[in-house]
Amino acid sequence: MTMHRSLHHAKKSLGQNFLIDPNQLSRLVEALDLRAKDAVIEIGPGTGLLTERIQPLVRKIWAIEIDRDLAAQLQRTFSGAGNVEIIQADILKTDLIALCGAESARVIGNIPYYITTPIIFHVLDHPGPIRDMTLLMQKEVGQRIVAEPNSKEYGILAVFSQAYAQVELLRSVPAAVFRPKPRVDSCLVRWTFDRTAASRIKEDALFRRLVRTAFNQRRKMLRSTLKTFDVQKLSHWDLTRRPEDLTVAEWIQLANDLT
Ligand code: SAM
Repeated sequence: MTMHRSLHHAKKSLGQNFLIDPNQLSRLVEALDLRAKDAVIEIGPGTGLLTERIQPLVRKIWAIEIDRDLAAQLQRTFSGAGNVEIIQADILKTDLIALCGAESARVIGNIPYYITTPIIFHVLDHPGPIRDMTLLMQKEVGQRIVAEPNSKEYGILAVFSQAYAQVELLRSVPAAVFRPKPRVDSCLVRWTFDRTAASRIKEDALFRRLVRTAFNQRRKMLRSTLKTFDVQKLSHWDLTRRPEDLTVAEWIQLANDLT
């Protein structure tokens, strides 16, 4: 097993930076706060170092790895573990709801950084049975997720994340604990999905389109970016405001007023 791992040549194009530091792995597992009844979706298990740590702690793991060589290696490593299912697939093309059915699942992963935001949007688009999500990612993306209004980091990622979940930046993780060492420092972020908050949004598709449209021209006033919406319904709003000035609650209210 160790032999295979050391022989694997990391593929830069697939964002392969393996978390090899045992102490960091322990801290990560501790932060995940896993329970014996938990079903876990792991994004990008790689050589399986994290998978191996969590396998004895939970009821079920779906480990989704795109790399055929690594997926084959994982199959061998976990052939004796009845609760680990290795899925050789692209996470962005995987229907997470179909995967776990009606079961509530927890998403975890040291994800490939070249697709950090697409992965986050993919999960936010299918929150259904996902209870929470804890991901290692580059620090600057983490800061955008927990950003407050009126900051340069505040944008679509913050508004979508905070509309559907409570978000926490758990801690920073230095680049030196990965092999090969990435160019950027990392951080650990948790989304705890909040169904009550999400249900305050009357029409999800409209809410998403509104936020995307406005932030695509973030320096412009709402009155010029929202021309394709029925702004007559927004007569009580000050449309000279700019996107980064609205709180998440205001974005939800603005969308609801358009329905
Ligand atoms: N979890 C391992 C660890 O901590 O050492 C590996 C983390 S590495 C940063 C990211 C992993 O995601 C790699 O194994 C890579 O092959 C895999 N990966 C890259 N793109 C993917 C995709 N679209 N879908 C699923 N896995 C992907």
